[in-house]
Amino acid sequence: MSLYAELHRHLGGSVVPRVLWRYFERNRPDVSERFEGYPDFEAFYTRPRNTLAEYLELHTLVESVQTQEALPYFVYRLIRGAYIFENLAYLELRYTPYLRTPEHLPQHERIEKMAEIIEVVGQTSQQSEYPIVTKQILCMHSKLPYEVNQAIVELAAQYSQYVCAIDLAGGDAKYGDRMDEYTTLYAHARELGVSTTGHVFETQDGCHPELLPYLMRIGHGIQIPLQRPDLLREVAARGQCLEVCPTTYLKTGTLEDLQQLKVVFDRCFEAGVDIAICTDNAGLHNVRLPFEYENLLTQDIIGFEELQACQAAAFRHAFAWPHERQPGSVIESMLRRQQLTHLMGEEIDEPAVHG
Ligand SMILES: [Zn+2]
Repeated sequence: MSLYAELHRHLGGSVVPRVLWRYFERNRPDVSERFEGYPDFEAFYTRPRNTLAEYLELHTLVESVQTQEALPYFVYRLIRGAYIFENLAYLELRYTPYLRTPEHLPQHERIEKMAEIIEVVGQTSQQSEYPIVTKQILCMHSKLPYEVNQAIVELAAQYSQYVCAIDLAGGDAKYGDRMDEYTTLYAHARELGVSTTGHVFETQDGCHPELLPYLMRIGHGIQIPLQRPDLLREVAARGQCLEVCPTTYLKTGTLEDLQQLKVVFDRCFEAGVDIAICTDNAGLHNVRLPFEYENLLTQDIIGFEELQACQAAAFRHAFAWPHERQPGSVIESMLRRQQLTHLMGEEIDEPAVHG
């Protein structure tokens, strides 16, 4: 039985269009009135963009409404949907806490407010009705100054009950001249015992091999097998896993066709590099995690064996999955035991039927 681990999902992009629409209708009619109705809004929200930069702009629309007060509304619905419709047993939810603090405050006050945001997200994601192991990944952001990103790293270490790792987001083409800052911050995080992932090698302009030694997992990384297959051997040696989010590459114009991912999977499997399949922005794409897997299978990009290998890799590379086994295998042994008891019972109680 398949239960899934999701390793790469943004809080901003995880709100499904209908939930966001209802929120706008109830609380922000100034936004909902800009659209003729829900279908018009959904078409706007989920349509593909030409570039990653354009796509990321859409996040700012959601970030602006995910205030401290509104976060429980969104997180509750996200967890409920993930449990009921996606069979998630484990979820790492990532976001930049600074971008959920009130914009009008000075920087130092916004930095102070970040702790409250982490607590709100942490408390709301623990729901006894919908038990999913949920942890946060805090994203440093390429548009934020060093002091803010540094505070994000410190908070990740301080709030280990809620936070399992840090990330770097904001478009991998923009890291360029600040690379030293990011490697310093990543090194600091590792010293503090914080796990690391980072958006890199997502687009053709985002190939930064100097960042790789600091990462435990690689956010996307599809340009490694596509552009720099020579790096795969060291990626395998470090035990790094790629977080591949198929629908994203079509929505950002990074790939034209999903078939282009076949070479990504083939080269990684051949080199012994693990891949976890993820959604990135399940709400924005209107595509849930089981469908990402199914889609790759039906398009012959991976086979059943590879699909299962990716499902297992996701649990193995999860930063905070607390068990030795995948949850599906626990349910399987329970069902097998019952089947066995049933068969044995039949033999004992009804020997005449078989004899
Ligand atoms: Zn992402």
